[in-house]
Amino acid sequence: MKISQNKVATLTYTLKNDDGEIIDQADENAPFQYMHGSGGIIKGLEKALEEKQAGDDFHVVIPPEDAYGVRDEKLTEAVPRSMFEGISDENLVAGAQFHASTAHGTQIITIASVEGDTVNIDANHPLAGETLHFDVAVKDVRDASEEEIAHGHPHASGGCGSHGGQEENTDGCCGGNCGG
Ligand code: ZN
Repeated sequence: MKISQNKVATLTYTLKNDDGEIIDQADENAPFQYMHGSGGIIKGLEKALEEKQAGDDFHVVIPPEDAYGVRDEKLTEAVPRSMFEGISDENLVAGAQFHASTAHGTQIITIASVEGDTVNIDANHPLAGETLHFDVAVKDVRDASEEEIAHGHPHASGGCGSHGGQEENTDGCCGGNCGG
């Protein structure tokens, strides 16, 4: 079975940056699962996976435009220290990341630097501007269930209760539709 729209694929992968440093990986013990065509993974990787089948492995280099986007300097901002009420100085350091609610939903912001009462924040995706080097192995391809298609994401076993490779409760869909 080949990967196409509404197929659930199970993968292992190693993701490296231009410097060859490992940024992320999913191995046999915790493989990654996604539903093709649902927008659940970056564009460049989804394109590379089209028509692949179980047993295939490949290397793909994905430019920022097809990954997490190019860096946008407009997304950097200086904000007052008081916006981080309850965050200790030890935790408010360059490189620290926080979830912030914005007009665009929940975003990860990264602390660029702290200068006295001013905190310079960066709302670019942590991997914005990065060229991604993936080594991918396709382990399994199956049809998505009707429930998965309705939810727009795969469930670990094809049933309810868990979301392979995704944070739970990000959209709360399973709570209502499957009772947990
Ligand atoms: Zn669901």
